[in-house]
Amino acid sequence: MAFCPRCATPLEERIVDGRRREACPREGCGYVLWDNPLPVVAAIVEHEGGILLVRQAGWPEKFFGLVTGFLEKGETPEEGVLREVKEELDLDGRVVSLVGVYPFVQRNQVIIAYHVKAEGTPHLGEELEAFKAIPPDKLRPWGMGTGHAVRDWLEKRGAGKP
Ligand SMILES: [Zn+2]
Repeated sequence: MAFCPRCATPLEERIVDGRRREACPREGCGYVLWDNPLPVVAAIVEHEGGILLVRQAGWPEKFFGLVTGFLEKGETPEEGVLREVKEELDLDGRVVSLVGVYPFVQRNQVIIAYHVKAEGTPHLGEELEAFKAIPPDKLRPWGMGTGHAVRDWLEKRGAGKP
């Protein structure tokens, strides 16, 4: 059970603004757990002609994904995604383009995905277990979350070629 962060009363389900939500039943408190989606930035990192995918700590051995992270307060999404590339791979990047914005309903997130070109020698950040470089031609989108951004990026890239 969740408790009200303002007055510690157990929250109850009630209809607020037409949806069932957890809310504080105490008179005069009025706290509602809105549970709004969080924005997450993601980077398709291009480095020396390859795309760098990363494995977060705790992921299965064969699982690799994009560099992702939450925004810090006061940061623009562009600043946030470049900071994550620096933290996770120790690379200096620049944003080439916004690939797209994707709802990730299962995790209650909205993914803001960028194509980032990065320079330097990659070093594994603390949150990562591994990274690997994949030639763009070998990159295959996965069926959820940031995979939709990879799909769109590959389609755009393919459209620019004969
Ligand atoms: Zn309360």
